[in-house]
Order: sequence, then C-alpha cells, then structure tokens
Amino acid sequence: MIGLIARAHLTPAVSAAVDQLLKENPLDPNQKRYCQDRPADPMADAASWADDMKSIDKTFTWHFVDIPLALHRAETDSLDVMKWCEAIGPSVDGKDRPGCLATAIDYEWSILRDKNQPAPDRAKALRYLIHFLGDLSQPLHDADNRDQGGNCTRMTFFANEKLENLHAIWDERMIGRDLDARKSFQHQYAAGLDREFAASWPNWGEAKPDVLAWAWEGHEVASQVTYGKLKPQLPVANPADGQIDRAGCNLERSQVEGMHITIGDEYFNAALPVVREQLAKAAYRLAGLLNQSF
Ligand SMILES: [Zn+2]
Repeated sequence: MIGLIARAHLTPAVSAAVDQLLKENPLDPNQKRYCQDRPADPMADAASWADDMKSIDKTFTWHFVDIPLALHRAETDSLDVMKWCEAIGPSVDGKDRPGCLATAIDYEWSILRDKNQPAPDRAKALRYLIHFLGDLSQPLHDADNRDQGGNCTRMTFFANEKLENLHAIWDERMIGRDLDARKSFQHQYAAGLDREFAASWPNWGEAKPDVLAWAWEGHEVASQVTYGKLKPQLPVANPADGQIDRAGCNLERSQVEGMHITIGDEYFNAALPVVREQLAKAAYRLAGLLNQSF
C-alpha cells in the first residue's frame, strides 16, 4: 500500500524512470518470493522483495534500528543511534557496510542517486528504499524492549486462539482487521489513506529528508502507543543491561505471557489511526525521496 500511495505522488518523469529501472533490471524469475499476492504496479510489487533477501544478501540487520524503548530523543544525542547501528564489515568498494535501517537508507539512496552506478545496482537500491521507508514507519522497527522489537512479546489479539506477537500485530494484524472491516481491496484502502492524509503532503513529501529524526519519531510512537497503550504495561527494560541479544529474547516469554495482555477494541481504536498515519507518512516520504533521485 505504501508503494501504491507513493506512486500517486511521483512526478510523471520520475514515475516513468522508476518503472524503466525496475523493468530493465528484473528480478530472477526463479527467486522464491514470500509475498505471493503481488500487485501489478512494479513499485508495489518490489516493496516486499527486501524481506526475501535477508539471508541471501546478509542484510537482516538493515531492517531495523533497535533504539532502547527506555530512551527518549530529548535526553539523547541523536547520533547515539549509531550505537545500535554498527557497521558490519567493509563492503566491496571499501566503504563500511550499513549496520542498521538508518544507515542502510542513506547508503542505498546514495547508490540510487548516482547515475554512474551500474543500473542493476541502482535498481536494487530502489527496491531496498521502497521497502525500508516502510520498515522505518513501523514503530517496532525503531524501538526495542529487549524483545526483538516486539517479536518475543506475545499476547491475545481479539478472539484469536493462538497468541500473537506484538511485532506481527503491528506488521499485519491491525491493518488486516481494518481491511476486513472496510471490506476493502488494497488499492481502495491505499486510495482512502491518500485522501485522508492529502493535506500532509507538503509536510511529509516535500520536507528535507532526515532519516535519524524519522527513526526517533517511530520510536516515540512505539513508546506512546505500541507499548504505551498495552494493558497491563510491560516493564521497560534498562538499556544499561548490556548488549541486546538479537538471537534470543531477553524478556522471559513465559513471564510476558503470564501477564495476559489482551488487545481488544480499546487498544485497536487508539492505535489504528496511528497505524494509518504511519503508512501514509511512509508513502509520502518515499515519494519525496524518489522525486529527488532521478
Ligand atoms: Zn523489512
């Protein structure tokens, strides 16, 4: 949906250039794609590709920046974000390989803008950017409560029998529920969001890009809403307690499950407007970046 909304805000010249770059540098048709129900729009189709590449390109850490939930921007030097963003070894051209979402966006954006880069690399950079602007807008890609951005924090979602993790609830369940409630197809839902947030285009689509500020903004949403509206409240992990364990869960799963957190109408009604705003914001910011890239 972010791809579909962004498309509507590209200049005609940029829209054509985006399609040309993607079509002239197609994906390997044999590559396994997780998302089977893919839209006809080449930009929207490209949006989930980066998740297919996590293990192939060893880019898993590019999809998030684990800013500890306990921190707040006002009390923290913005550059401190780099503590959770260490480069993961030199890339082929001698430059550091990005270590997290914040640096991956800058890195791929610089490749896309550089007309001297080979077209296949620019197409790849474009596919990464489309995806990463979406990830950056999902608050649990900018915040972590020592629970892998909510992946370890399981709770009840309405009448679902199976416990759901908070990350999946914000990735899919909330939007899925709203789509069902509105009996909407994705392109209708995208058009509705675009109408609702049209007045915000100058603020989001024409402002100077500031990836660190956007990451902090997502982090604030995580603090205020994603974690902030849960009942009962989870204890906020102390960021001073050593390194985050990216492979395991620092919060005991059984302890969290024992709290019996349930997401129902109260949480949903408070969080859904924020989910919708984050989608529109990501789309407008993506369109703004791309309008400056060709
Ligand atoms: Zn991702």
